Amino acid sequence: MAKTIIISNRLPVKIEKNVDQLSYKPSEGGLATGLGSIYKQGENVWLGWPGLHLQKKEEREEVTKHLAKENMAPVFLTPQDISDYYEGFSNSTLWPNFHYFNQYAIYEQGLYNAYVSVNKKFCDEVIKLAQPDDIIWIHDYQLLLLPEMVRNKLPNVQIGFFLHIPFPSYEVFRLLPWRKELLHGMLGADLIGFHTYDDMRHFLSSVSRLVGFSNSEGLIDTGKRLIEVDSFPMGIDYERFSNAAASPKTIEQEIKYRTSLGDQQLILSIDRLDYSKGIPQRLLAFELFLERHPEYTQRVSLILIVVPSRDNVGKYQELKEEVDLLVGRINGNYGRINWTPIHYFYRSFSLEALSAFYRMAHVAMVTPMRDGMNLVCKEYIASRLDQKGVLILSEMAGASKELSDAILINPNNINQMVEAIYSALTMPEEEQVRHISVMQESLKRYNIHHWVKMFMQRLGYIKEMQKSLATKNLDTSAIKFVKKTYKNTKKRLLFLDYDGTLTGFKSNPQLSKPDQELLDLLAQLCEDPHNRVIIISGRDRQTLGAWIGHLPLDVVAEHGVWSREYGTEWTTVDTMVDTWKDEIRSTLELYVNRTPGSFIEEKDYSLVWHYRKVETGLGELRSRELSSHLKYLSTNKNLQVLEGDMVVEIKSAAVNKGKTALKWLRKFDHDFVLAIGDDWTDEDTFKVMPKDAFSVKVGSTSSAANYNIDSFKEVRAFLWELMR
Ligand code: UDP
Repeated sequence: MAKTIIISNRLPVKIEKNVDQLSYKPSEGGLATGLGSIYKQGENVWLGWPGLHLQKKEEREEVTKHLAKENMAPVFLTPQDISDYYEGFSNSTLWPNFHYFNQYAIYEQGLYNAYVSVNKKFCDEVIKLAQPDDIIWIHDYQLLLLPEMVRNKLPNVQIGFFLHIPFPSYEVFRLLPWRKELLHGMLGADLIGFHTYDDMRHFLSSVSRLVGFSNSEGLIDTGKRLIEVDSFPMGIDYERFSNAAASPKTIEQEIKYRTSLGDQQLILSIDRLDYSKGIPQRLLAFELFLERHPEYTQRVSLILIVVPSRDNVGKYQELKEEVDLLVGRINGNYGRINWTPIHYFYRSFSLEALSAFYRMAHVAMVTPMRDGMNLVCKEYIASRLDQKGVLILSEMAGASKELSDAILINPNNINQMVEAIYSALTMPEEEQVRHISVMQESLKRYNIHHWVKMFMQRLGYIKEMQKSLATKNLDTSAIKFVKKTYKNTKKRLLFLDYDGTLTGFKSNPQLSKPDQELLDLLAQLCEDPHNRVIIISGRDRQTLGAWIGHLPLDVVAEHGVWSREYGTEWTTVDTMVDTWKDEIRSTLELYVNRTPGSFIEEKDYSLVWHYRKVETGLGELRSRELSSHLKYLSTNKNLQVLEGDMVVEIKSAAVNKGKTALKWLRKFDHDFVLAIGDDWTDEDTFKVMPKDAFSVKVGSTSSAANYNIDSFKEVRAFLWELMR
């Protein structure tokens, strides 16, 4: 039976050692609860670091045995591993870079080497457990290299990867010396998930620019495998928080706190100690609020909970000092004998205590400089049983994409934060209820269980899609089969792409003129009265006309903009417009000026930027930049950007080869259909082919076609063979 293996840096358990006695406590985080529905079933297992260093072999064995009963398996790490891989590369290189604090990032080869070696340790443990038909779900930034490592050992296993922190823009990510290795690592997965669409967009752009794999609708084609990239915003265990808010223990806590605090309004702030959370900025905003609104003296307090975290890392120690100083300054300047502006706690609280704070707070201030998702804001909403309260939320938190009913602020804009505090404290109750109830509905529905279900479903779906796109090699026995059908049929349609399919690529597209062998091959195909040959190409009609126009075949030019049945005139689609060309041409010219050897080809309804003659490396680099530039410019223009072999083409989205091929299929009766092509544009042709058609992709093994073949030379040999 296939099983599911969850892998994360930490196991969902807290193990403590007291003298020689080990004690185990399950962690209660949202992720552990959500994934509980998976890893606790049958043979499934969660693999990760148990959180403590055990020197003795017997202790490690004991832990392994104990965890096995709970469907967990340990990866033991040494103190050196923790210092270099976890505190080092993960938290001092990746974390700051991914949170746009690159000035804090340390680039040290030794730390990266440790990261590689710990990812290998994880891989070794995975391989001990995994079978080829298992499902593997890898979590977070500590294990970016693991998907590829596992893929190399188990080429067909199903792998999902989810990143719980932001994925930075290409401009920031590319600063990392190991950027390509990290991307290749992640690309070992079949499904790569992020919290938000922006993270996903940043990742796709980095893959396209640094690795050179283009994408379409979130799908990356590596030539061998299709990978899906999508956003799955993570939810909370809604019931856990709404139940906790109703529990007698929580209410008891609340009464205790309230008795000490009196009836002033409360603003709540809860975070782990981290520079990404914007704690000093929040304190400064509160200070300015007190200065601008003296009427709130003795009427409002900030409950500041900072949970200790990563205190071995230097930047965190500095931050702690900064927060201590600010709190001291504000309380010193504004405090009264019977009123403290900020109640500051540097520790963590039980669920009941947290829940009591959530219940009591009139306002929750969640204003990170950058946060992958942020759960505190969602927990606050879930805990507001009376639906009153106001959430002030940073636009830089992933959660802001879902919680648009909060007061959204930019944490760099202190004036906006001060105004937000004032609006929150003065918001009428009906308005509070209106906003909170909308957010509660959405959080109830998109909870942690929904998130797990969506991810797993999608992972299954992409595997199915990979299977349906898997092509068979057009080998001797397949050719024999096609040939037999060919011989037994009399109404054949043969759709043949030109460049890359019937000829190889040349440095100048005008040099790909058909050679004598190709002309003979086409002539002979056309000679058979049972054949109708359609050359279906992206080239302009003048060139195609001049090269093969004398042959008795049909021609489709510019991906379907123009077509001509043999013996008739060229016709075009009525709706074509080319008014967009001037603007786009000037952009392309900019790239020609910056990229020696590149040039523009102009067709009636499309523009092509060629870079075959450009210095290796530079051409690829510019093409990726150009293609994302064009995608941006073409928004709302009904244009399509195609990345072909050494070209970037922009054309109307109203036509494609598939739509055009359909016209032939509808018009001409057929009992045999063959389609051959080599790039993205030919996929449209393959997709409209009837079930019993033969479709052949040149070059790649992942395609909507049913067969693949190596190069144009084999295509020619195959066509000759059919006729023999
Ligand atoms: N939390 C906790 N004890 C505390 C304070 C907070 O367990 O004393 C929890 C809180 O309920 C939330 C998590 O810590 O579930 C913080 O998650 P978030 O996504 O907001 O931030 P992260 O720490 O993951 O960056």
